[in-house]
Amino acid sequence: MEVNRSMQTGKAKIVRMTEDNLDMDALREAGRILRSGGLVAFPTETVYGLGGNALDPEASRKIYAAKGRPSDNPLIVHIADLEHLFPLVREFPEKARRLAERYWPGPLTMIFQKTDLVPYETTGGLDTVAVRFPDNAIAREMIRQGGGYVAAPSANTSGRPSPTLASHVEEDLGSRIDMIIDGGQVNIGLESTIVDFSEGHPVILRPGFLNQEMLENVIGEVTVDPGIMSENIHVRPKAPGMRYKHYAPKADLAIVEGQPEAVFSKIRELTEKRLSEGFRVGIICTEESRDRYTEGDIRCIGSRADDRTIAHHLYEILRDFDADGVDYIYTESFETPRMGQAIMNRLIKAAGHEVIQA
Ligand code: AMP
Ligand code: MG
Repeated sequence: MEVNRSMQTGKAKIVRMTEDNLDMDALREAGRILRSGGLVAFPTETVYGLGGNALDPEASRKIYAAKGRPSDNPLIVHIADLEHLFPLVREFPEKARRLAERYWPGPLTMIFQKTDLVPYETTGGLDTVAVRFPDNAIAREMIRQGGGYVAAPSANTSGRPSPTLASHVEEDLGSRIDMIIDGGQVNIGLESTIVDFSEGHPVILRPGFLNQEMLENVIGEVTVDPGIMSENIHVRPKAPGMRYKHYAPKADLAIVEGQPEAVFSKIRELTEKRLSEGFRVGIICTEESRDRYTEGDIRCIGSRADDRTIAHHLYEILRDFDADGVDYIYTESFETPRMGQAIMNRLIKAAGHEVIQA
């Protein structure tokens, strides 16, 4: 899709605040922009979102244009009060109610049959709507000021890694939107877990900070869409957005899998080869493996002892490698228990399914 650069002239106004110290004047201004059909990027606990009025078809069209996002890839509607869910959805199943009680506000998106209130421009033409209640005080106050319903995909150019800092948003969208609220670095760093309730039985369409076990602890069996973890590009994920090449850095990224020692030596070997050919090479390692590498642009992503640190830095490192002009990136694989599924889901996409067995 062609990005319409003429839709917005000039630069987004950037305002800074923290969750403990909300700038109410700036949030009221953000609310006015949203209610008059404009776009505001804002922090959430997962990644930065690009918000527009979810009930205004024109605002949703602007979101797609600003991101260069295919218009059949639906947006998530963000709310800031549970009451605001009911006008959007045809039913609210008992299990969804229990998940909402436990995990909302939080990094959980649930999909339901939509009502006529939600325009097809917001749902990418689908009869279902994805809803999230974010756990970030800035986001919640902005949503309330904006009228209660904010459609927001991640605030990146389509195909680039999602933004975890306001500077990432500025880099991608600074000249195409009205305002950026800088709330510092996000907490989690990967997008929300998506659970589809639209066909009765709950199905995870996108893994996130909340994993299958954490959902099953509350509502019993939850299945995982087979499309999301597959290295086989022919298994189509159900969430439209998961089908696109996504989260991708400019460099050629490959995941190296296998026993740790074999992985370290394979990455060293691939790095030496590319360096000798005159390329710039980035390596993604962990605190545990940092001293196994000596050559290349070596970045420590976090610690395997706490995989939330790995999730937290993934997109930032991919963007840093872009800025550094790296040609090839080799990364270790992270099949960690807590967030491994979410991390590997993003990495496999970023790598365009390129996995090397060591
Ligand atoms: P993003 O906002 O960039 O995290 O993208 C939103 C994600 O939610 C995409 O992967 C969408 O495909 C998915 N999504 C949103 N609404 C629906 C829906 N009604 N059915 C299935 N997936 C959805
Ligand atoms: Mg996105």
